[in-house]
Amino acid sequence: MNDIAPMALRSDPDAGLPEEIIPLCEPEIRGNEWKYIKECLDTKWVSSAGPAVERFETAVVKYVGAKYGVATANGTTALHIALLVSGIRPEEEVLVSTLTFIAPANAIRYVGAWPIFMDADPIYWQMDPEKVANFLKKECSWQRNALYNKTTGRRVKAILTVHILGHPCDMDPIVQIARKYNLVVIEDASESLGARYKERMVGQLADIACFSFNGNKIITTGGGGMILTDNEGWATRARYLTTQAKNDPVESIHNEIGYNYRLTNIQAALGCAQMEKLDEYVDIKRGIARAYAQAFSSVPGITCMQEASWARSIFWIYSMLVDETSYGMTSRALLAHLQGARVETRPLWQPLHRSPAHKGAQAYHCDFAEALFNKALRLPSSVGLTVAKQQKVIEFIRRFSEGNR
Ligand SMILES: *Cc1c(COP(=O)(O)O)cnc(C)c1O
Repeated sequence: MNDIAPMALRSDPDAGLPEEIIPLCEPEIRGNEWKYIKECLDTKWVSSAGPAVERFETAVVKYVGAKYGVATANGTTALHIALLVSGIRPEEEVLVSTLTFIAPANAIRYVGAWPIFMDADPIYWQMDPEKVANFLKKECSWQRNALYNKTTGRRVKAILTVHILGHPCDMDPIVQIARKYNLVVIEDASESLGARYKERMVGQLADIACFSFNGNKIITTGGGGMILTDNEGWATRARYLTTQAKNDPVESIHNEIGYNYRLTNIQAALGCAQMEKLDEYVDIKRGIARAYAQAFSSVPGITCMQEASWARSIFWIYSMLVDETSYGMTSRALLAHLQGARVETRPLWQPLHRSPAHKGAQAYHCDFAEALFNKALRLPSSVGLTVAKQQKVIEFIRRFSEGNR
């Protein structure tokens, strides 16, 4: 399989079957998955100790270029532990993107801290560094060697940036201002493994980073996650906390309350096989993005996702904005039409400052995230999306627009 070109793999044996749904983003299993999982079963290494876990950690660490990696049960647990080991305490505050899947904000609450929601930038839709800087300068004050939020009186401790949809955040200004105020910077790179910021891989751009290997991510372990950091103390502590804080495995002595958050050997085996395909999958996703961008350049009312000159996006899930007036219908009406045509699409996430789950948390001028939420649709972007199926999606989107104008 390894020597077949991506385009050849995307030829479509079942084009034209009327029943088939074109999914938003399904996993791709085309490598050594069966072989590596069979090795786990044959050797009876199935749980969270086992050689595949270490192999998987090493593969991701090497790929990203970090020093240490600790595999976890999923991306959400990775975030929880990353916040703990980087010293975020109850009643402290963490700046976090408002336009993201909810997991990072929830993890902030798990440690008893509070999110402060930051807007998305208008072009690339990532955490807006200018608004972050304005918030820290205008809304906070520096006292007793720490930064305090003037509105809540709480200590501001960290910035949690989320590289959404496969594209990196503009990290240099964020890290720069964080250093000025002595804040920890955590990357949630769950959606962007393989993406680059100014030639550097996401996941090693700040103090500590988290990945997810859920089934909808670019590579999967079924469920899984990883914490990456160059800080040896934090990595050691992450390993300790995720394995029940075990101090003496023979006598079962635990000095602290820990968590059962480790990845299993079977899941890690799946991850090892998936890592071998990552670069190929990134190329395929970028090819899917190019095809959408080219097709929609001539459709009025559709604005495509952008890639910054300083970024190499992995285009995890391709997204576009639908302008009701010039396209002829809203993003939600288009979603319904596409659903009728058996094409699965989704809006972006409800901005978290609007989420009932985070009612009462502070938000700083998050207007652009709301505009995006109203207009954006995520389109089918599976690695296995064939040229024929993608063409079908494109044709539907063209036709609905023509029919409505
Ligand atoms: C998927 C995802 C996570 C983690 O999800 P898990 O299902 O817990 O692995 C965290 N943050 C973001 C932005 C995500 O997209």
